[in-house]
Amino acid sequence: MTTQTEPARPDSPRSDLRFLILGAGMSGILTAIKLREAGLNDFAIYEKADRLGGTWRENEYAGVACDVPAHMYTYSFAPNPEWSNRFAAGAEIQEYFEGVAHRYGIDELIQYGKEVRRCEFVDGRWHVELSDGSTDVGDFVIAATGVLHHPAYPDIDGVDDFGGAAFHSARWDHDVPLEGKRVGVIGTGSTAIQIVSALVDRVAELSLFQRTAQWVMPIENPAYSEEEKAEFRRRPEAMEEIRAEVTKVFTERFANILGDAESPLLEAIHTACEENLENSVKDPVLRERLRPDYRAACKRLIMSEDFYEAIQHPNANLVTEEIERIEAGGIRTRDGELHELDVLIFATGFRVDRFMRPMEVIGRDGVTLEDAWRENPSAYMAITVPSFPNLFMLNGPNGPVGNFSLIDVAELQFSYIMQLIEQVRSGSCRELSASQEALERFDSERKEAAKHTIWASGCKSWYLDSDGIPAAWPWTFDRFREEMDKPHLDDFETR
Ligand code: NAP
Repeated sequence: MTTQTEPARPDSPRSDLRFLILGAGMSGILTAIKLREAGLNDFAIYEKADRLGGTWRENEYAGVACDVPAHMYTYSFAPNPEWSNRFAAGAEIQEYFEGVAHRYGIDELIQYGKEVRRCEFVDGRWHVELSDGSTDVGDFVIAATGVLHHPAYPDIDGVDDFGGAAFHSARWDHDVPLEGKRVGVIGTGSTAIQIVSALVDRVAELSLFQRTAQWVMPIENPAYSEEEKAEFRRRPEAMEEIRAEVTKVFTERFANILGDAESPLLEAIHTACEENLENSVKDPVLRERLRPDYRAACKRLIMSEDFYEAIQHPNANLVTEEIERIEAGGIRTRDGELHELDVLIFATGFRVDRFMRPMEVIGRDGVTLEDAWRENPSAYMAITVPSFPNLFMLNGPNGPVGNFSLIDVAELQFSYIMQLIEQVRSGSCRELSASQEALERFDSERKEAAKHTIWASGCKSWYLDSDGIPAAWPWTFDRFREEMDKPHLDDFETR
């Protein structure tokens, strides 16, 4: 559908604003709900897949769960008394988003099977082209396209030579039987650790190919009893209390300290991980092979109640020898050994620098996002890029990522974006994006602060950009909240 109206004069309030929401994952659903709440009903939601849910639709691997407590990983306005456990499984989270989208009447508005291929800013409005050949025009683009979205496959010789079934964790092939099979998992990130725990006693043999050991923070995952759930239904404040408590602990004892590698609280986290390793792994040789040589929380911290138990299971085999190549029969390591496998799982992460891309995005004066992000993706306050007016991102580059509730992050970001939209709605301006000067200042302060973060303390991870600088929000989470509270309009170029 195409809506063509002349842009209004800057001094007249607007009641004709149209919004194009890209993606129907957690952030896209949030955007639609919040726009409606603000009385902004003219929007389209474009989703390339045939289901909503974003990351929770894509990740159906064995053991998929969220290691952020469920009552925190929930929209603040849609508490869920039905969470089964302290930490929810992926399928349950997917069901939650489907339920919320249905309750708010958003699901029927989503246009499925429509991938946005191109967005161009022409005469003050965004013109988009979709994979089915249709077009649309809107005043704002809200990119809710996700961060960990494009699977990364390992650069290993013979990666296509494997004779059995092989797939990426985010492209799980449910048709491949795993029972009684020899299964190999490459990677030791949060995904691989969940897979290993879930599969070890289902398969004949599970080989975990570890390039880098991980620190593991112990967690407990008790189920909520029927009485507790009944109490949540009767008294929703009980869920709010849990959320407030968990958020407070998480903010003060984790999110606020990542920017200060010298924080004693980080030392305490390190000690807790060391104790977990000492107390959980009996064999001293295996223990040393599982011991990382960098500080805890330098990479995204693994939260697990059972990984160490799983890796000591008789079916488990930890392979620390470097992979030489993949062959038809399995994985050959540098010591010459062939680890024979029936199934190979790539838990090798994502191309985290993609964001909206490969979509072609053309801003003011023909500037492309590809050009703007040639070195590394960056966005003022993780939300706006100069020369791309009225295009705002949720969970864009430089935001708080990692062991965070990205729902919390997206809600804070949307309240900021809403204030920018209000500038246009009220007639203060027609277009706004961060100024070049503001982005440069933000970027140089961000990179300076990044040097002091735990992520820069001597390990490799997906947090680092192509120059080796942590790209995530390097300050405290409290500062993020403060920044999101109110935009500094002086940092915006308006027309
Ligand atoms: P990841 O953290 O990027 O881990 C990728 C793994 O693959 C690493 O262990 C890496 O080894 C390994 N790898 C990559 N290329 C390799 C190669 N050529 N040879 C050997 N090993 C190779 O990916 P992920 O585990 O999918 O997690 C990504 C993010 O998703 C997480 O950090 C988290 O933010 C999110 N996530 C969240 C949850 C949750 O519960 N909330 C669960 C899963 C994922 P190196 O370490 O040596 O590079």
